[in-house]
Amino acid sequence: MRGNPERNPMSICNICPRACKIERKRSASDRGTVGYCASGMLPVISRAALHHWEEPCIAGTRGAGTVFFAGCNLSCVYCQNYEISEMRKGIEVSVDRLKEIYQELIRQGAHNIDLVTPTHYTHAIFQSLRDPLPVPVVYNCGGYESVHTVAFLRNKVQCWLPDLKYMDSKASKRYSDAPDYFEKASAAIEQMFRQTGPYEIGPDGILKKGVLIRHLILPGQVEDTKRIMEYIAETFAPGDVLFSLMRQYIPYRRASEFPEINRRITDEEYEECESYMEDLGITDGYVQAKESSDKAFIPIFDGTGVLESAHEGLDQK
Ligand code: SF4
Repeated sequence: MRGNPERNPMSICNICPRACKIERKRSASDRGTVGYCASGMLPVISRAALHHWEEPCIAGTRGAGTVFFAGCNLSCVYCQNYEISEMRKGIEVSVDRLKEIYQELIRQGAHNIDLVTPTHYTHAIFQSLRDPLPVPVVYNCGGYESVHTVAFLRNKVQCWLPDLKYMDSKASKRYSDAPDYFEKASAAIEQMFRQTGPYEIGPDGILKKGVLIRHLILPGQVEDTKRIMEYIAETFAPGDVLFSLMRQYIPYRRASEFPEINRRITDEEYEECESYMEDLGITDGYVQAKESSDKAFIPIFDGTGVLESAHEGLDQK
């Protein structure tokens, strides 16, 4: 892996499984090339604030120190954060400013630094974590990661929070334009576990290290959810990883073009998945209350916490 977002303006990018192998431009405002994620090397951030709607071992009582990055290496047709993932609403910052944001969140009481959709800014994040932080670093990603990038972040990231969205390649192609999603995501998750070992939760209830795998149930996709939980039960022993079964799906963005997922999941679908999770003996983890599928839980991407002083209006990058 090559590239330094501050000193070396161009870099051949193979950070994620898209392996675009193009010379990414340094800044969103520069002329130059971008890959599938349409992002320059310098991070664009949409919001940096305490966030209380992660799993209890991440949010704790004071909140996770979330940094929401703009852009994404997936293009999920139902993305609830499409304002930032697709429209890339946010403010570009330097690596030094990113480091300051971490410190500001820690001073506000953040239990951790929770990097949301960070993959395409791995180089900048690596630079920003040269000096260890006094709280765990959480890598909160869509799961479509390269093993070599996970390994690159060894000793920088203590807690991995990957999605495991699909096993079925037709679904991953149709809804996220990633037919090899499960192959890549499962390999990356196994590498994350090799690096952290079994998860550890401190006396304060906060995850100190480990892997927490998230899975969002999609409408009509209960069988795929079951296959994913079977994979987790067969791959990891009790006490190895945490699992979060999520019911917060809301048909956003282009979901209306896909009639089979243009609805919320039913109580019956969720109960069938939850019951199967119990049957498989997956007890290290979380299930979600029905109320979680409420738009009120989606953060406002208004640039909070990104600039040093009062910010101006956000522009699309
Ligand atoms: S991070 Fe972006 S440019 Fe790099 S390989 Fe992935 S999609 Fe392509």
